[in-house]
Amino acid sequence: MSSVVHLLEPAPSPAADLAPPRLEGLEDLVRQVLVRARPGTGAWAVKTWLGPPQRPAAVAPAWAARVASALPDPEAAFCTDTLSITTAPLDTVAGHQDVAAAKGYGPGGPAPEFKVADDPDLGPAPAVDGIDLAAGTAGAAGLAVLTPFRPHPHAGFLGAITSLGLGLVDRAAKLELHLGIRPQVDTPLCAGCGSCLAVCLWDAIVLKAGRAMIDHEQCTGCGECMNACFMAGVAPEETAGIPRFQERVAEAAVVARRGTVAGTRPAVFLNFLVRRDRSSGGPARKRTPCGDLGVLVGNDPVAVDRAAWDLVVERCGGSLEAWSGFRQQPDALLERAEALGLGSSEHRLVRHTG
Ligand code: SF4
Ligand code: SF4
Repeated sequence: MSSVVHLLEPAPSPAADLAPPRLEGLEDLVRQVLVRARPGTGAWAVKTWLGPPQRPAAVAPAWAARVASALPDPEAAFCTDTLSITTAPLDTVAGHQDVAAAKGYGPGGPAPEFKVADDPDLGPAPAVDGIDLAAGTAGAAGLAVLTPFRPHPHAGFLGAITSLGLGLVDRAAKLELHLGIRPQVDTPLCAGCGSCLAVCLWDAIVLKAGRAMIDHEQCTGCGECMNACFMAGVAPEETAGIPRFQERVAEAAVVARRGTVAGTRPAVFLNFLVRRDRSSGGPARKRTPCGDLGVLVGNDPVAVDRAAWDLVVERCGGSLEAWSGFRQQPDALLERAEALGLGSSEHRLVRHTG
């Protein structure tokens, strides 16, 4: 069955305007999508992504606020994210809250209250079908999943499915999903710059004779070194089980989509392909620069991801690899998600101008 995906394209702005686009009409599109989902009231979780501490929030708090205002019970809605396995201080609750406040997600900011979804103080992670969900979102009445669509070293892209499967599970579950991924340094490509060492949260990389080496006893497979390497000199082993990783993320996404709420909970998915994602993710020397493509909105995460994939291929270099700089294709992710009934790659794109 074909799903409807809305594309809200930003109105043209002067080249020198560095502010995030306004995206006029975002709220109306969210309402339009939600009418089809027949939502009830209750506290909705607005899943956002903060991104690295030194950059603007990957999803602008103003966008999160506007999405929240279109939810059935805006006063009860809360913004949320989970603990990082790649980036300090986003790997601790206190650090995460500090970064959130610095990026405009704190008190006095435009967005609803922010909480770390897998904060241990919120209670034990509920296990559903073998997946430990983040306690803070597992019982939410509905989900608004806001994703900065960007390259991902293991999945090709970070989109709605990975936001569910990696972004709404407990940190320990996130680490478990990465088991089996073994990055390797392509020694002839390595310039010995040390960028990968600097970002590795797990002290798994050393420089020997001017080249990086990975200690697989320490490595969690998080992939941050691949984002950092300007030479694209770190990549997963060919036998690294990337397809199995993608399938497991899709399986976790199905569980996170459902949560612990009886029956199906309503949800809306937004993939942002706008200015803020230009500088984040992907080995920089390998990527094709891409402008503000807009935001994709729908209630089918598979369709929203497939639409985003098609859009970057059409507008950003002719292939996913040209856009991302990573050779991984997300076929196993989307195929497993479809097979499990999370959604459909078939979609009809409806264009709007914001
Ligand atoms: S970031 Fe890349 S080029 Fe630099 S040391 Fe690491 S593997 Fe080598
Ligand atoms: S070496 Fe392993 S743990 Fe360190 S950044 Fe790379 S993938 Fe992550």
